[in-house]
This record gives sequence, C-alpha cells and structure tokens, in this order.
Amino acid sequence: MRAVGFSPFPVDRTPVRVGSDPVTIMANPKRKLSRASKGHRRAHLALTRAQLVRCTHCGAMIRPHTVCKACGHYRGRQILVAENG
Ligand SMILES: [Zn+2]
Repeated sequence: MRAVGFSPFPVDRTPVRVGSDPVTIMANPKRKLSRASKGHRRAHLALTRAQLVRCTHCGAMIRPHTVCKACGHYRGRQILVAENG
C-alpha cells in the first residue's frame, strides 16, 4: 500500500523478507531531485547581515537590544563594569 498524494519520498513500511528475517524498508527518494527543485528549496537559505546601531553612550557599533561591549552601557545605564577600568 502506498500513501495517497504527491510526495517525492513515499514511505513504504511493508516488511520485506531478507533471508529469514522480516526487514522494514526505510524511506528512500523515488527519483533524483533536479537542480531547479534544489535551488527553489534553497532560495530562502541566504544569510543576512547583522543589523548594527550606534551605542548611545560611546558611539560604537553594536547589535540592537544588547549591552555595549565597549562601554558596558544599555539604555543609558551602566550594566557591565570593565575589569581594568
Ligand atoms: Zn558603548
């Protein structure tokens, strides 16, 4: 029995006898995946650059909503204290 509907990966779990033991066949691609289909799937996998904003205290470029690693400030308040400062 085969699953109804289109799928390139039909799952057939009919036990098959290999030697004397019944073995379940694992899912296997029915046909080669074309370059176009592979490309369509990967169209959304591109990486995006991290957005950076200026620290309001020291002006360093930091990721938004994070404590500034340069001066330790977050939203105008000192959060981290430098070790040798
Ligand atoms: Zn800063």
